[in-house]
Formats: sequence, C-alpha cells, structure tokens
Amino acid sequence: VDLPIHDAVLARAAEFGDISALIDGTDGTTLTYEQVDRFHRRVAAALAEAGVRKGDVLALHSPNTIAFPTAFYAATRAGATVTTVHPLATAEEFAEQLRDSAARWIVTVSPLLDAARRAAELAGGVREIFVCDSASGHRSLIDMLASTAPEPRVAIDPAEDIAALPYSSGTTGTPKGVMLTHRQIATNLAQLHPAIPAGPGDRVLAVLPFFHIYGLTALMNAPLRQGATVVVLTRFDLEQFLAAVQNHRITALYVAPPIVLALAKHPAVAQYDLSSLRYIVSAAAPLDARLALACSRRLGLPPVGQAYGMTELSPGTHVVPLDAMNDAPPGTVGKLIAGTEMRIVSLDDPGKDLPAGEPGEILIRGPQIMKGYLGRPDATTAMIDADGWLHTGDVGQVDGDGWLFVVDRVKELIKYKGFQVAPAELEALLLTHPGIADAAVIGRYDDDGNEAPHAYVVRQPSAADLTEAEIMMYVAERVAPYKRIRHVTFIVGVPRAASGKILRRQLRESA
Ligand code: ATP
Ligand code: MG
Repeated sequence: VDLPIHDAVLARAAEFGDISALIDGTDGTTLTYEQVDRFHRRVAAALAEAGVRKGDVLALHSPNTIAFPTAFYAATRAGATVTTVHPLATAEEFAEQLRDSAARWIVTVSPLLDAARRAAELAGGVREIFVCDSASGHRSLIDMLASTAPEPRVAIDPAEDIAALPYSSGTTGTPKGVMLTHRQIATNLAQLHPAIPAGPGDRVLAVLPFFHIYGLTALMNAPLRQGATVVVLTRFDLEQFLAAVQNHRITALYVAPPIVLALAKHPAVAQYDLSSLRYIVSAAAPLDARLALACSRRLGLPPVGQAYGMTELSPGTHVVPLDAMNDAPPGTVGKLIAGTEMRIVSLDDPGKDLPAGEPGEILIRGPQIMKGYLGRPDATTAMIDADGWLHTGDVGQVDGDGWLFVVDRVKELIKYKGFQVAPAELEALLLTHPGIADAAVIGRYDDDGNEAPHAYVVRQPSAADLTEAEIMMYVAERVAPYKRIRHVTFIVGVPRAASGKILRRQLRESA
C-alpha cells in the first residue's frame, strides 16, 4: 500500500511477464505485462527529459486505448499528477479543466488533437502536447519508447503526493477536481481486492471509460494489479460489445445500469455466445433488483453484484463479494469493505444515528477519503466534517446483516406534499413495463406549487402507441398514492453522463 500507484499496480508485472495485460478489442493488438512495465518506464524517462517535474499536472485526454495505462503510469512515475479528461469534452470544457487544475502538459490521441490544441490555447499555461499514437508533428509516446534518457528518480511521498485528479461526474453541479493521493488509491485497491479476487486467466472488458474513477479502478488499476487481461473498447456500441465478449471469451463485466438494461432487454443479446461470463458487477448509479435479476436470468449468471462509491472515496466503500453474489439480498450495493466506517444519520437531524432498516444519509470515514477538492476549501469542509466523516449526499439504509441499500441522492428526492419520493424507485418501476425502453423521473412544480413526479419515457419501438394515461395508470396501480406519476413526456433518449448516470439536471433545464 505504501508505494506510489504505478509501483503498487505493477508490483507483480515481472512475475506476470508474458501474460497479456491489454488487448485492443478491435484489432487484437496486445501488450504483455513485461511490455507495460518496460514501456511506462521509458515514457517516464522521456517525459522527465521533456521537462515534466514532480507536482506538475498532466491532462490525459484519451478514449480507452491499450496505451492509456502506459501514459498514466509513466506520468505518475515522472512525478506528475494525472487529471483525466473526457475525450468528448468541448474545447471550452477541456480548457476549463486545464485552467482549474493548472495543467502544464497534455497527452492526447491524434484524432482529438484539434480539440486539445484549442483547449491549450484557450487556457494558456500548457507547455507541450504529446500524442499516444502516431507523430502528427507532436512528440508521441511511440517515439518516447526509444528514449535513452535515464529513468527519473523522483521521491514520491505516497501519503501526501497527489497521484490523480479525477473530476466528479457533474451530476449535481459543476464537476469538482478530486485530489487523491497515491496512498488513498492504493489503499482502496487493497481494500476492494478480497471481495473480487480476479487474477491471471480472468478477462475483463474495458467498455466504461478509464477517465472516470470507476473505469480507472475496476478496469485498469485492479485487473492490472492482479494479472488479469483487459480487453479494451474505445466506445460503447452494443453489438460490438457483445461480439467482444464472445470473441475474447470475457469472464467478468464491470458495467453501469444502462448496460445491465441492454443485457436484460435488447434482442441482439440472444445472437451471441456469452457463456464465458462468470459474473457481472454494476456500479455508479442505482440498479433495480428486478432489472438485475432479469439480466442474470437471461444470461444464466449469478445475480448481478453491485458496488458503491464516489470519486471522493478513491472510489469504493461497498461491494457484493464474489462468493456472496448468490446469497446477497436483491438490490443491495454490498457490504462495507475493511478498514472503513459507516454511519446512517437522520436527514432531519444530522446528529442522530439511525438503526438498521431506517433510511438516512450515508456517512463514511476511512483512509481512502480524498485529500480534498482542488482549490475549493469551502466545498471540502462542507463535505468532510471535523471528525473526518464524509457526507456522501446519498440516502441509504442497512439491513440487520449489514447489507447496504442505496435509495437515491438526498438532492434528488421529490417532496410531494411532505412525503419523500425517490426518483430511482419510480424509474425502476417504469422499466418493468414491457413497452418502456428507458425512463427518467424528476420533480416538477405543479400550478398549485406542489413538487410532483414527472416521468420522461422512451417507448420501445414496438410500443409506439403507449400513452401517458396508460403509463400513469401502470404506476398508480403499483405505488402509494403520493408516489404517483403526475406527468409524462415522451423523449427519444435519456441524457446520461459517461459513467451511466441519468442527468436529471438536463431534463430539468429542458422542462
Ligand atoms: P457530482 O458529484 O459532480 O454531482 P457524481 O456524484 O455523479 O457527480 P461520481 O463521483 O461519479 O460523481 O458519482 C458518485 C455517486 O454515484 C454517488 O454519490 C451515488 O449517488 C452514485 N452511485 C455510485 N454507485 C452507486 C450504486 N451502486 N447505486 C446507486 N448510486 C450509486
Ligand atoms: Mg458527487
């Protein structure tokens, strides 16, 4: 645990040697563990020679590729802090992150060079742009492999130095830069490992983005630390994804709820041989128990196991252990990992701890809590109290055996005439309707000043005549009166963040 993150992840790279670390899911190009280890050291040397110094912020702006981990670990080995950037960010959004993080270096890929150049111009302060792939007039990581510069000897203090500066998803507001030390990330990997001990022979499919903390952890750091093979897909396309599972004999999937939904409902799923799969983990957004069950039954797998976390928690605190996936109660996000404490406190009286069975705000304390938000001391203090408890902003409850259930975010709860309604519960119910392909629920104010549930519904192509009244009736027959849907708007797609979260904010703005 007390190693810099590149050393913690690649500690056994020599032992794993010829095992495939990364495979390009499209063209089959492969990097072995020996190569990743050697390549990232060479690139680190070249970065140091180019002027990268300890504490510099390097923006890694790339879709998932087999070069991504090499770029990441090279940068941290050179002493830099890596801030990962959404590859589809506009030049303005990218520039904002460059400014906010005071980034001095960019690593991008040639198809995204224009956006990177524009962002660098807008932000100022960037000394050089490198590319992962071909030269294109910029120094490339491939050229750097030939570097004869000495390996940098940077003294890294794992407890203090910031390895990564991921930005939160921006679901509830502006994304915030989250300072994570080497020790925080490495500690969380060690804490999560016993629950899901993947290793050599396991093949995971990196379809969720590496730039988000969930993909970074579950699809890059954890499998590479353990000797598994990561098959990389650059973007999500259902058929390509299913073909990759089949052709690469993928053993484990780490996904977000929209992919569970597709696996449960999409007709294409039946056309592929997915028999290599042993289990599926879902995280990052609420997953309904019925949907999870529909997915696992259809694929003949143990129930989808969930995990829970947030960027500020490096990121995991709860997971359904692999050996408990069959027995865990449906809908749980898992059990608290080792070395971490949790409290559930009253929403009305935050000082009051609640017993099992009662929903309240989830508070977490442990060594994986972020150092803070970059440049936002007030936001940090609002999040982490004087006793070290991080207030997650999520509502949850535990059962008598310690299984956690996440209800929704505190901020998203709809207050209907004094009652609280969780949008996630209504969304899950709507998805059980055979004519509904996807759904999102937000609170909307009626003319009489009451906030009430408003559903945004995507109809199945076969159910184009499904009406608002039918949907309202379907829900009314299944929930208490105060939870009824009061309005329905039909849309063509639910807006989601890259991590799979519904962007209710966007629906609210469009209303
Ligand atoms: P921002 O903080 O910028 O508004 P965000 O909270 O969506 O964005 P992330 O750190 O990516 O940014 O997401 C963490 C949140 O994701 C948690 O606070 C929780 O609301 C949600 N989440 C994660 N895992 C689960 C899960 N298994 N079930 C339900 N919600 C989950
Ligand atoms: Mg958040």
